[in-house]
Amino acid sequence: MAENIGELPEELSSLTKVRDGLRKGELNPVEVVETFARNMEAGRNINAFITETIERAMDGAKAAVERLKGDDARPLEGVPIAVKDNFCTRGVLSTAGSKILYNFVPTYESTVTSKLWEAGALLLGKTNLDEFAMGSTTETSHFGPTINPVGLKLGLENLTPGGSSGGSAAAVAAGMAPGAIGSDTGGSIRQPASFCGVVGMKPTYGLCSRWGMMAYASSLDQAGALGHTVRDVAILLDVIMGEDEKDTTSCPRGCLNLEDALETPMEIERIAIPKEIRQAEATEEAELVWQRAEELVKETGCEIVEVSMPHLKYALPAYYIIALSEASSNLARYDGVRYGHRAEEYEDLIDMYEKTRAEGFGLEAKRRIMMGTHALSAGYYDAYYKKAQQVRAIVADEFAQAFKQADLMLMPAAPAGAYELGKSLDDPLQMYLGDVFTVPVNMAGLPGLSLPVAKDARGMPLGLQVIGPRFFDDKVVAFADKLEQALA
Ligand code: GLN
Repeated sequence: MAENIGELPEELSSLTKVRDGLRKGELNPVEVVETFARNMEAGRNINAFITETIERAMDGAKAAVERLKGDDARPLEGVPIAVKDNFCTRGVLSTAGSKILYNFVPTYESTVTSKLWEAGALLLGKTNLDEFAMGSTTETSHFGPTINPVGLKLGLENLTPGGSSGGSAAAVAAGMAPGAIGSDTGGSIRQPASFCGVVGMKPTYGLCSRWGMMAYASSLDQAGALGHTVRDVAILLDVIMGEDEKDTTSCPRGCLNLEDALETPMEIERIAIPKEIRQAEATEEAELVWQRAEELVKETGCEIVEVSMPHLKYALPAYYIIALSEASSNLARYDGVRYGHRAEEYEDLIDMYEKTRAEGFGLEAKRRIMMGTHALSAGYYDAYYKKAQQVRAIVADEFAQAFKQADLMLMPAAPAGAYELGKSLDDPLQMYLGDVFTVPVNMAGLPGLSLPVAKDARGMPLGLQVIGPRFFDDKVVAFADKLEQALA
């Protein structure tokens, strides 16, 4: 199996190298697409893609040849990428990993992907995900699970790539795309990045437009990027961020261009480590990451400060109330009337809705719709939803207090390395608990980046999260870049 995983030549080993090589005329865009397409083919057993669009990428590469020769090359001219299948792409199947959208071909383009094509990027394909981004393993996809390519290389064939952006993380880790777009509601970029040994970042809530990104939990959903290096991720985010009149929660960037931030001296002196959660979630793997974090921070010359955030642990239960409540409302639109799957036989309109939804949604989506509907129902709203919103405010405030004492914060991305296939399906609650380090960041709308810093006993990667105050995405990437250099 391991021989199926594509190796990349040095000059294609990061998105930065691909972009720079194309710009300098050292790489030919057609050959670049051919190489990634070969790896996509060789790694089909990984199931990273739901839809491949290699022909489209090839056509784009041919057009890029001319532009790269002239002066009108755009920021990502000829750079091929993969996009999570919950972004609507005009004329290309967009399923959100669900049977209910198995045949949905949008007539419009999401803002994030429009920005990518306007910058000259080429679409290699749409990547696999947990159904509607609900999950942490990519196993709830209607199109079957994705396999962790790093595990395959180590001879471990039964590991998940994490989720929900597992297809995007696997595509980058397996050399099928130099970079990828994902979405992160409660960790869906950072956790798969950690499990697959790549870099992944979700920016501050609002910096990327949610328009055309299929909604899971709108107050938490945020687009972001995955790549081999911190710079790869900065390059992609620079293209996709920006205010959009089609999304009223989007906002102008309050920070530097992220790639410029890597070259700009910045005041980063104190780095926070939250003490209670470190004690409460002291798995062997998490402790390994905390210790590595402390060593790395020393190398950067910064100082560690322990901060007290006693309510951080309540972010997880509150997240699952809020996310599921919003999901139950967002998923109400899939009724078989306008698009997607519709039951073949039914008696009347209500029967059609019921059968369509019963057939179209998978088990996890149904579980979440039911729990969310329950939490929002008249008798329980105050006890669950309102309480969860209060907890959310307290968590956000604890972060704000911590950032008075420190510039940035560090936490592991997950309490363990890649999960085994099948385990989370037997015990969904255990899977929810694994999001303990990522969901607080979404609850407070903060930027968070995961960088591989250690390995577990099996040799699987473990990611460290760099978290910043809202709109200090530039400091997050600048510091993560320093950590990356300290690792090299
Ligand atoms: N695992 C989390 C959930 O299932 C996060 C998913 C996400 O970020 N999309 O809700």
